[in-house]
Amino acid sequence: MSGLLAAVVHGAGDVRVDRVPAVEPGPGEVEIAIGWGGICGSDLHYVHDGRVGDFPVRAPMVLGHEVSGTVARLGEGVRDLEPGEPVAIDPTRPCLVCASCRAGRSNLCTDVRFLGSAARVPHVDGGFRERLVVRADQCLPLPDGLDPGTAVLAEPLAVALHAVARAGPLQGRAVLVCGAGPIGALVAVAARHAGAADVVVTDVLDEPLAVVRRLGATATVNVAAGSGTAPPGAALPTTEPDTAPAVPAVDVAIEASGAPAALATALAAVRPGGRVVLLGMGPGPTVPLGANRVVTREVDVVGSFRFGPEFARAVRALADGLDLGPLVTGRRPLADAVDAFAAAADRRTAMKVLLAISP
Ligand code: ZN
Repeated sequence: MSGLLAAVVHGAGDVRVDRVPAVEPGPGEVEIAIGWGGICGSDLHYVHDGRVGDFPVRAPMVLGHEVSGTVARLGEGVRDLEPGEPVAIDPTRPCLVCASCRAGRSNLCTDVRFLGSAARVPHVDGGFRERLVVRADQCLPLPDGLDPGTAVLAEPLAVALHAVARAGPLQGRAVLVCGAGPIGALVAVAARHAGAADVVVTDVLDEPLAVVRRLGATATVNVAAGSGTAPPGAALPTTEPDTAPAVPAVDVAIEASGAPAALATALAAVRPGGRVVLLGMGPGPTVPLGANRVVTREVDVVGSFRFGPEFARAVRALADGLDLGPLVTGRRPLADAVDAFAAAADRRTAMKVLLAISP
């Protein structure tokens, strides 16, 4: 068989390990030998639902946007990279010319190509493949001592760092993070990294909450059971009708689950004049929001989407020794990708599952 091994979604419930054609690097592009891939919640949505949000899978698409590896071949005119160099790959390929790009907010590019995304037709194939061609500026050479197996976490960490940047200064603040999935867990890490004094994380399952405590969350609350490790005295008055028990009042809430109930919890927990950052994608195009509470308490509600310069900051933080070890709950070869996706979908046992592609 010729071609490259790749994890390809064909539709809902239909992911396969296929052979796909190799691509030649064009001018300004490089071919990367992919070492590692991280399975993200959006990959799981493509696999299980055949869509992410408004974007259905219309044709077979290679999955994956959390990838790292080593430079294999250079296209014409590439000067800043060398074959054999280990790199983290920014999955964002912005147009560089639209108003957002020119304003330095390339995460809001109106003509972006994002690895492994069905938002465009034809879809942009992702990085869960043995070799991948990207634009040279998408490659960030790894600092000495940082290996691709660790640097593969730079992309989700960058998402978390961006959400924390959108939250404003956190030094000494109390922060609530709704959702203890990999992104929520990384937001908790990033909030602590930014100096937050208290980082409380909510979820409906105990197992991921135990992982976020190992990663540095100061308290957790299982909002399904209504019990947790938050001090009882910190709870909001029970007269708040939409407040889950034992969720303390906070300066900033970062909603990382996409669950409508979690948005209500976030809004109820934030103090007057505080801020709510919306990071999780909701289940449909509209999600109820307690707008009167936003008005009367002057709550700042801001969105956070992907990341910009935080990608380089994430690589630097990992090189400086930020330990995300407890987050990685499994490593599987690309050939076992179907099993890896199934394993990653079990929130009781899995956080971040990595695909070893050409490690
Ligand atoms: Zn643009």
